[in-house]
Amino acid sequence: MKILVPVKRVIDYNVKPRVKADGTGVDLQNVKMSMNPFDEIAVEEAIRLKEKGVATEIVAVSVGPQKAQETLRTALAMGADRAILVMTDDEVEPLAVAKILKAIADEEAPGLVILGKQAIDDDSNQTGQMLAALLGRPQGTFASAVTVEGDSVTVTREVDGGLETVKLAMPAVVTTDLRLNEPRYASLPNIMKAKSKPLATKAPADYGVDTAPRLKTLKVAEPPVRSAGIKVADVDALVAKLKEMGVA
Ligand code: AMP
Repeated sequence: MKILVPVKRVIDYNVKPRVKADGTGVDLQNVKMSMNPFDEIAVEEAIRLKEKGVATEIVAVSVGPQKAQETLRTALAMGADRAILVMTDDEVEPLAVAKILKAIADEEAPGLVILGKQAIDDDSNQTGQMLAALLGRPQGTFASAVTVEGDSVTVTREVDGGLETVKLAMPAVVTTDLRLNEPRYASLPNIMKAKSKPLATKAPADYGVDTAPRLKTLKVAEPPVRSAGIKVADVDALVAKLKEMGVA
């Protein structure tokens, strides 16, 4: 069974984003970029399924600029077998990504597509769901456990107030939540080996997908600045202060 893992190049999660002065977006000049953390979890899960003998090949896909190659090389260094870069300098919205992934899934016929539950730059949480709908295949979102048995995959889902377990007929789409696994670091020899693994470069037009945006960003603003805290002398003063603020 083949597994397709879409990986997005995003602003590194340790970086504090700065909003552009004109409020049109986040400033990405000279900012560290990395693989979306939920996608690292997706790559890790695919590798574990391969190590268990469930999967035979892992194909990583990224839709993005030339530099997204680095993200794909990271996936290859972790253990993916080959990669596809669908190159575009446009900002691609989830629907366009889902359409491209559908076309690739039609070509590659993976048993599973494992995506992140959301990209930490746009926080959309849409691509996996849209892909499942376009493919007409079942989806198990927010996975905290994934078990493949025969032609089906059992997904434990993190839902409000607990866990839900669903069984999906494969081919299926799974999106990863934080607690699914802890992604491995790529070792130096594997980083070297990844340089010679196959990486195909395509364009959205090769899949007949128009990436023109459907949404217009009206404004991006910094979160409100938090006011400074105060120190109180003891518990009585704390309780008095909380009463004064109307929260106790
Ligand atoms: P989103 O719906 O934008 O929050 O993204 C959810 C997931 O879809 C991500 O964690 C990735 O696995 C995948 N994805 C989104 N955008 C891209 C992209 N440009 N290239 C590859 N995968 C993507």
